[in-house]
Amino acid sequence: MEMLYQLSHTPVRRLRLAVWITGGAAWNARVVTVGRRTKIVATLGPATDDPQVLDALLAAGTDTCRVNLSHGPIETSLGRVAAVRRAAERAGRHIGVLCDLPGPKVRTTAFAEGVEVAPSQRLHLVDARPGASVTSDASVIAIALQGAVSLLEPGDIVGLGDGGVQLVVVEPGAETVLVEVRSGGKLRGRPGVVLPEDRIPLTSPTADDLAMLERLLEVGIDYVAVSFVQTAADVQAVQRAGGASGPLVIAKVETQAAVDDLEAIIEMADGVMVARGDLGVRVPLEDVPHIQRRLIQAGVSYGKPVITATQMLESMITAPTPTRAEVTDVANAVSQGTSAVMLSAETAVGRDPVAVVEAMARIIVRAEREFDHVGWGKRLGRQHQARLGEVSAASRITSAITAAAWQASVDVEPAAVIACTRSGWTAKAISRFRPACLLLGVTPNLTTARQLSMAWGVTPLVVTELATTDDIVWCAIEASVHAGYVKAGDIVAVLAGNPNDSTATTDVLRLVVLR
Ligand code: PEP
Repeated sequence: MEMLYQLSHTPVRRLRLAVWITGGAAWNARVVTVGRRTKIVATLGPATDDPQVLDALLAAGTDTCRVNLSHGPIETSLGRVAAVRRAAERAGRHIGVLCDLPGPKVRTTAFAEGVEVAPSQRLHLVDARPGASVTSDASVIAIALQGAVSLLEPGDIVGLGDGGVQLVVVEPGAETVLVEVRSGGKLRGRPGVVLPEDRIPLTSPTADDLAMLERLLEVGIDYVAVSFVQTAADVQAVQRAGGASGPLVIAKVETQAAVDDLEAIIEMADGVMVARGDLGVRVPLEDVPHIQRRLIQAGVSYGKPVITATQMLESMITAPTPTRAEVTDVANAVSQGTSAVMLSAETAVGRDPVAVVEAMARIIVRAEREFDHVGWGKRLGRQHQARLGEVSAASRITSAITAAAWQASVDVEPAAVIACTRSGWTAKAISRFRPACLLLGVTPNLTTARQLSMAWGVTPLVVTELATTDDIVWCAIEASVHAGYVKAGDIVAVLAGNPNDSTATTDVLRLVVLR
């Protein structure tokens, strides 16, 4: 393949207005069209441990792999992180790794076999003594949090699993509590336990979370998710523990306290997750769709990726096709502007993880055909202006220049917006406007490229480190052409900043015709 750029033999500073490209049909044939924009996060588990399945999972469209540390020993999770890195290498793609810390989730001890509890049935809750291997059954359920049982009072509601099973306390006691089943259901494995939060408060991150994080830092991960966040300080604690080069921190919004403190949490975190499973047992279930919408709107307006999670294609754990309601749920999340959608048990333990990702990708692509890019950008622009007075000069400049890039994307209809980005921030700042054209995140940083696997619409591209804004701009264009993303005749909009400016401000927008 022969490609000649004036760029390659002309001092870059003299090339202000155009880049000349000559080349044959060979690379024109490789030109990439705008593909799926909403990212897919797939949870790994026993069903994806076969390397061939993992390869197929990535090929089907997985952008980020989630490793849930709530299940199994940490060694299993570390093994899965390594497996993703190997699979990404085989695929030649930048795949993100998201590790999800368990947080203070209280669970029962294991049910030796699945049981069904029915309304009005009475049973006992007991403390699971540390070290004792007490199993739970249909008449005695052991709670793996010392002393929790003794704090229960008559009339308290205890939820099990994802809230389907609810128990009412009838007779309290120091070690054994009599409860009556208010709503019944199946119990298997080690279901989560929801206790009254006013007496048994959740604190996050736990000491166990921080110990796990230390192990994860040794191998290097791209994102860490914090469960049961209550305040922005919980997020900050994990950011501090991760250090300056640590993973980006995703706040899982799954408590009423987090919903009440939403803006501060979003501002602090690097991304947020609508963790609808636990959220649905801690707030009225009918509030969940509205919290989801609010969280997506707020998160995206701050330029923070928002993941919509849990039960998205739940029936596909056992069935070959999703329900109509599930398809509609995924499509609605896409229309609401979510950055990513997540699969949990569907891929981790489901019958056909690859088919689930394929189904998810199809639903997204179809839903995105209806997306109102211009309407979204206009609304976001107004929200921005309202908030500009509150932020630093660097943020205001980045906001203004990315808003200008979005406006240019509407007026000029470029083939691509090319965001030159070291930390990923410029790419996320323009991504929040949801431009219709291709959006490239060109970065010298491999970790950033992997982290952009969660940012709506951003295709990462890795280039070498350069010292001046001009060099960065022109080399990003060159790399985009090389990779087949843009071609002669295209217009591109390039966003960049001064690499020597410690405030990391993006202050340059160039509209370039590729000739
Ligand atoms: C959730 O509760 O929706 C969630 C994503 O968290 P987990 O899978 O850890 O329960």
